Amino acid sequence: MKALVWHGKEDIRYDTVSDPGIEHPRDAIIKVTSCAICGSDLHLFHNFIPAMMPGDIMGHESMGEVVEVGSEAAGKLKKGDRVVIPFTIYCGDCEQCRRGNFSVCERTNRHKKLADKVFGHATAGLFGYTHLTGGYPGGQAEYLRVPFADTTHIKVPDGISDEKLLFLSDILPTGWQAAKQCDIEPGDTVAIWGCGPVGQMAIRSALLQGAEQVVAIDYLPERLSMAAAGGAITIDFKKESVIERLNGLTGGKGPQKCIDAIGTESHVSLSHPDTLVDRFKQTLMLENDRPHALREMIYVCRPAGTISIVGVYTGLIDNVPMGMAMNKGLNFRMAQAHVARWTDELLAMIEDGRIDPSFVITHKVDLSQGPEMYRVFRDQQDSCIKVVLTP
Ligand SMILES: [Zn+2]
Ligand SMILES: [Zn+2]
Repeated sequence: MKALVWHGKEDIRYDTVSDPGIEHPRDAIIKVTSCAICGSDLHLFHNFIPAMMPGDIMGHESMGEVVEVGSEAAGKLKKGDRVVIPFTIYCGDCEQCRRGNFSVCERTNRHKKLADKVFGHATAGLFGYTHLTGGYPGGQAEYLRVPFADTTHIKVPDGISDEKLLFLSDILPTGWQAAKQCDIEPGDTVAIWGCGPVGQMAIRSALLQGAEQVVAIDYLPERLSMAAAGGAITIDFKKESVIERLNGLTGGKGPQKCIDAIGTESHVSLSHPDTLVDRFKQTLMLENDRPHALREMIYVCRPAGTISIVGVYTGLIDNVPMGMAMNKGLNFRMAQAHVARWTDELLAMIEDGRIDPSFVITHKVDLSQGPEMYRVFRDQQDSCIKVVLTP
């Protein structure tokens, strides 16, 4: 089959690889009908994340049709079922899964020993990601082997387009969880740093969850206009002071809830002196991430407020003002999305039209154009916000 394969830094190729097959009775194979490139794929593209190996197949946002089912998954799935595949692989019956903490499933990371050593405790297996999360082949491919397929799938109805359903795999539940982690109350201002695809989903989610005002921060005009179309007040951080504007919008008190939808920035912005220092340290491998936005959030957040982090960080960060955060009594909430926790609610909202996540798609091309689209997305050319690939 054809797949997008990681060969090294900034080297992703459209290669012929062997077809996946059933390796375990809980497996299923899906024929991919649509898949997407995610912001966190750019972290792999840049080789910011350790433990990628040449030959790894990319992709963790995929959907398609079931073509083969292992004996133990057969009760839950059958040939011909239409499914979206969550980016987190989960077993459904470990202690964490029973609590709904699917992204920290205790059983699905097949490189558990390595991950235990690096993280203290292993987290769930993820598709198309580092070997620290199991190194499972991803779904930017014609076919995908789904381990733990009896639980790791979202059955979706016919009659709704792939474009509306595909993002149940990651960015929609991630944006939804970003807002859920804020425990939004009436009157709350929610400020969101980063208007990429997850930030866009977080804007709509925060409003649906009852935020009084949502303020979205970025600098790319196409992202800011998409944010405004979703109901956000926008701040262009290259043109105005984020802190002054947020205080101005909240009677000088700052937003109660702050969402980090950036994480380690794939896009290098050298406009702040602290970012320059971070970049230097990152080059010397002394620091993995550049947390300028996080520092800004801690500074501007209202005391006793909440910082909700869904942007992906990869390792160490320096100079986080912990004293400020502690004395202000800030709450920190963060996670890789526990996708399955939100699936029923979100699918129902897609079905009844309250959410249509397809608004975020700016490019839809053949899988063979994937390598080029990684560059277009990375360089933010052609107003690119979200790329969907069809094998
Ligand atoms: Zn993703
Ligand atoms: Zn589990």
